Amino acid sequence: MDRQQKKVVVIGGGFAGVHLIQQLAKDDRFIITLVDRNNYNFFPPLIYQVSAGFLEPSNISYPFRKLYHNKKNITFRMGEFQRVIPEENKVILSTGELTYDYLVFGTGTQSNFFGMENVKKNAVPMKTINDAIELRNYILQTIEKATITTDPDERRKLLTMVVAGAGPSGVEISGILAEMRNGIYRKDYPELKDPQGGAIYLVDSNSKVLGPMSEKSQQYTHKALEHFGIKILLGKQVKDYVNDEVIFADGDKIATKTLIWTAGVIAVELPGLPATSVGRARRVMVDAHNLVQGTNNIYALGDSSIMTTDPAFPGGHPQLAQVAIQQGQLLAKNLRAIADNREQKVFIYNDKGTMAIIGKNKAVADIGKLHFKGLTAALIWGFIHIWSLINYRNKIKTFWNWAFAWFTKDVAMRFIFRPTEKKV
Ligand SMILES: Cc1cc2nc3c(=O)[nH]c(=O)nc-3n(C[C@H](O)[C@H](O)[C@H](O)COP(=O)(O)OP(=O)(O)OC[C@H]3O[C@@H](n4cnc5c(N)ncnc54)[C@H](O)[C@@H]3O)c2cc1C
Repeated sequence: MDRQQKKVVVIGGGFAGVHLIQQLAKDDRFIITLVDRNNYNFFPPLIYQVSAGFLEPSNISYPFRKLYHNKKNITFRMGEFQRVIPEENKVILSTGELTYDYLVFGTGTQSNFFGMENVKKNAVPMKTINDAIELRNYILQTIEKATITTDPDERRKLLTMVVAGAGPSGVEISGILAEMRNGIYRKDYPELKDPQGGAIYLVDSNSKVLGPMSEKSQQYTHKALEHFGIKILLGKQVKDYVNDEVIFADGDKIATKTLIWTAGVIAVELPGLPATSVGRARRVMVDAHNLVQGTNNIYALGDSSIMTTDPAFPGGHPQLAQVAIQQGQLLAKNLRAIADNREQKVFIYNDKGTMAIIGKNKAVADIGKLHFKGLTAALIWGFIHIWSLINYRNKIKTFWNWAFAWFTKDVAMRFIFRPTEKKV
């Protein structure tokens, strides 16, 4: 390594980390080490399809080592971030230590159970590939059990599913579960003569589904979900989940074996950063260049950070893929600008819109002032999601699976795999 070269350690290979590295790797003045707790990058917007057995995990994930195998200035270290020692420019990982000239966090968020221990213990989250595999196994096992039990109450509990959180993830998983129930149950589980014995509930403490989207999108989505047979309960706050009962703040209860948790996230904890830099929902406060407050060479990007300098987003940006991508790309340009003694650019988010899919041929998209719904929105959604997958292998596999499912009205990935972990 020559003296002019800078060591950049990137913790987290999600949207922000990967887009930063893609830009920075073109410049061999930077020696980059990517650290991630997983050995692969994955695409969270399609996690719900893996959870429901509509896509394989490998359709939406890709190994880091393969991604970077022909890049000389990038190395990968699998490991969990434990703490940073800013005075020594050093990070401690579960798999050793690294020193840096620049440290970048793109560690994202984790599920937030708002201190409800029973919910944390008994609900199934939908945040990571591991969660998605667990959720798929869990759902399929509850249906298998429902085919066996002769107790109608038990059967109803097994076939009742409650999704907490009516944001895009909650809408998407309840929509796909309804699709399974309305189509696949009858074919795969002939023992379930009356699949309507249970119900799918979508619950939220807010008064609308898809809170951040336009009113037109909210209304269309609400109607479409009801049309699929989903029971929507709004203004309902989950308080507990114990003895197979979801308990709400107003005392109402739903008996169920399945609570799917998409109701909140909190940033991954980053010990060692100045306590004064930790803001709302544990997001790290950064300046207009994503520099962490109170530090001079540590950056935080995407979901892990909160920036209040962008005039259109004084309360911070929404936690979306595009924010993370754009911040990663700009930081790469800014680190190169510092190396060239050029002026850095401040981050201004280019809002490309939001969208959600409710079911086959039913979606909503708000792009600028334009609103799309139905098949048009579903096609836009499909195109953008395929386009955004990390490489051609994943794009082609996902497109093929979707095309097959669209024509056959079925997919065949409803396996219950139970991996056991052997310690190395
Ligand atoms: C189910 C779901 C659906 C979503 N759908 C959409 C959507 O449709 N559109 C949209 O714009 N956004 C969507 N989002 C939000 C979007 O995924 C995030 O905004 C985006 O992923 C943030 O990117 P990021 O790089 O900041 O973090 P992430 O993409 O979350 O990446 C974080 C990375 O850090 C790694 N990591 C975390 N902690 C550690 C640690 N301690 N040590 C080492 N590595 C660590 C993780 O393994 C991961 O690779 C969705 C999110 C979820 C969970």
